[in-house]
Amino acid sequence: MKEQIISVKNISKQYQQEQASGVQNISFDINKGEIIAIIGESGSGKSTLLKCIYGLLSVDEGEVTFNGERILGPNEQLIPGHKEMKMVTQDFSLNIYAKVYDNIASMMANTDVHYKHEKTMEMMLHLHIDHLKDKKITQLSGGEQQRVAIAKALVTNTSVLLLDEPFSQVDALLKNQLRADIKRIAAETGVTVIMVSHDPADGLFLADELLILKDGHLMQRGKPAEIYNHPNHIYTARMLGNAVVLNTDDAKKLGLEIKEGNAVFYPEWVELSNSWNSRRFEVKDVYYKGFYEELLLERNGVTIRAIQLNRGEHKKNDHVQANIGRFLKL
Ligand code: ADP
Ligand code: MG
Repeated sequence: MKEQIISVKNISKQYQQEQASGVQNISFDINKGEIIAIIGESGSGKSTLLKCIYGLLSVDEGEVTFNGERILGPNEQLIPGHKEMKMVTQDFSLNIYAKVYDNIASMMANTDVHYKHEKTMEMMLHLHIDHLKDKKITQLSGGEQQRVAIAKALVTNTSVLLLDEPFSQVDALLKNQLRADIKRIAAETGVTVIMVSHDPADGLFLADELLILKDGHLMQRGKPAEIYNHPNHIYTARMLGNAVVLNTDDAKKLGLEIKEGNAVFYPEWVELSNSWNSRRFEVKDVYYKGFYEELLLERNGVTIRAIQLNRGEHKKNDHVQANIGRFLKL
C-alpha cells in the first residue's frame, strides 16, 4: 500500500500581475519513498514549484500538505518549510572554510556526541565522501561539494529531499555516478526525493514519476516510460526524445495517414529496412553519436532523422529504404 507524503493542491504563484510567470493551478500527490522529477525548459516554473512545496515562497492560491499538515509560507513562520524537508540548491550553502566532517556534523545537536559522530560517518559512507572527511570545502570539486550538501541535508531526520538542478555543475561521468547515488540512497533510506531539472536524461533514468512543466502549467505526469512512449504534447516529445515533428502536409508527402495536426516520432521509431511499406530516402548527412549514428534522411523535400546502430552502413548521398514504424498524431 502506497503511503502519500506530500499533496500539492491547486497551487498558483504569480510574480508579476500582468505577465505570465511562476506556476498556475498545479496539483499532484507524492508517495513516500518515491523519486519525482520535475522536467521543463528554462523559465517553465520548476524552481518556483519547488520553492512553493518547500514553503520558501508563499502561494497565491492552493496549499501544500506534508503528512496532512499544511506547509506554512515565509509570512507565517521564521524558518521555511517542515523540519523533515530539506532543499539542496545549486549554491550548496556549505561553510566553505570548514571541513567536510564538520559541515555535516554541525547539523546535529551535541546532546549525544557518539550518535552525532556515528551518523556523520554513516552519511559520508553513503555518499562516498568518507575519504574527504578532513578536507576543507574549498579543496573540493563541484561534484564533491554537492555530495557534501546532500549528506548534510540527509543527516538529520529528513524524509523529503528537494534538489534544484542537482546535476548542473558536474561533468557527464560524475553525473552518472550521482544519479545512481541518489537512486541508491532513496532506496536505502526511504527518503522521498523531489528533483528539478532541465535535462530530461536525469529524470528518465532516475525517477518513479515525471512531471512535465511548460509555461507554469503541468502538462503531463506519469511513469517515465509511459510519458516517453505516449507524450501528449509536441513539447514533451521534443524535450524527452528529440522527436521529429512533421506538419500535416509534410507527413502526407511521406505517406503517413494523417488529416490534421502533426506527425511526431522519435528517430529510433524509423526502421531502416527493405520491407513492403518502406520508402526510398536519400541520406543527406550522418552524425556520429558514439555507439550509434543519426542519419538525416530526405524524401519529397521532407527531412527526418533516423538511428543507425550499425555504424558506417550508410553514407552521405546513399539511398536507403526506411519506414516510419510508429508515429503519434499531436
Ligand atoms: P525554472 O526554474 O523552470 O527555470 P522559474 O520557476 O525560476 O523557472 O521561473 C518561472 C517564471 O517565473 C519565469 O518566467 C521567471 O522569469 C519568473 N520568475 C521567477 N522568479 C521570479 C521573481 N523573483 N520575480 C519575477 N519573476 C520571476
Ligand atoms: Mg530553476
